[in-house]
Amino acid sequence: MLGWLRKRRHAGAIPESLWRAMLAHYPFLASRPENELLRLKELSAQFLGSKEFHGANGLVITDGVALAIAAQAVLPVLHLGLAWYDDFVGIVVHPAEVLARRTETDETGVVHHYDEVLAGEAMERGPVMLSWADVDSAGRTAEQGYNVVIHEFIHKIDMRDGAPDGCPPLRSRAARQAWLAVMQAEYQAFREKVIIAERFGGEPPWLDSYGATSIDEFFAVACEAYFVNRQRFDVEFPALSPLLDSFFCPSAATGS
Ligand SMILES: [Zn+2]
Repeated sequence: MLGWLRKRRHAGAIPESLWRAMLAHYPFLASRPENELLRLKELSAQFLGSKEFHGANGLVITDGVALAIAAQAVLPVLHLGLAWYDDFVGIVVHPAEVLARRTETDETGVVHHYDEVLAGEAMERGPVMLSWADVDSAGRTAEQGYNVVIHEFIHKIDMRDGAPDGCPPLRSRAARQAWLAVMQAEYQAFREKVIIAERFGGEPPWLDSYGATSIDEFFAVACEAYFVNRQRFDVEFPALSPLLDSFFCPSAATGS
């Protein structure tokens, strides 16, 4: 099934028909300005040339599957470059969500076993795992600000300087402190809304309540919405938009 992709090193650019079909499936990509789309296509081709896709549980990696993942994965690094993803090559794609067995030892030394349902997973200096069902439905779920590919690749960016902490690698300690001050405040506010909704039946906030788990999950969840539903994100999180711009789109943020 790997037609063009298998020959991609010789084929060069992504075939136009394949590119157009992908864009038609993901309106949040198609609606971006023409210059960004050109860059997106270029980076997607480089991404496909440098990563290895593996299908799991019977999922076949077609050109369309690989391109859909590549185009969404490169969106966060459109202005930063692919070097941000150079610590790994493998991308494992399952047909749907995966049930993962977890073991956790609590502070009293008791070991707990539990199952976790995963739409994706990112490992430090390791591969990214994705559920194709979730990747495939990203055009529809952009309305809710949901995007599994962006979520996992934000974790990869966050983990480039160690354990995920809701802050990407930044130039200085001061920049890091300034970033975390905003992120922490927004995370706490989101967390409170989720708690009120769950305990007292308040209106649940926009975005996946999973973002209330920890600050690094909040960062990943917020970035999903920032990249796939910017209009609503600006209204819901006005303090986060300029912060994320300063990292993901530095030239636009400084007005140069
Ligand atoms: Zn996560």
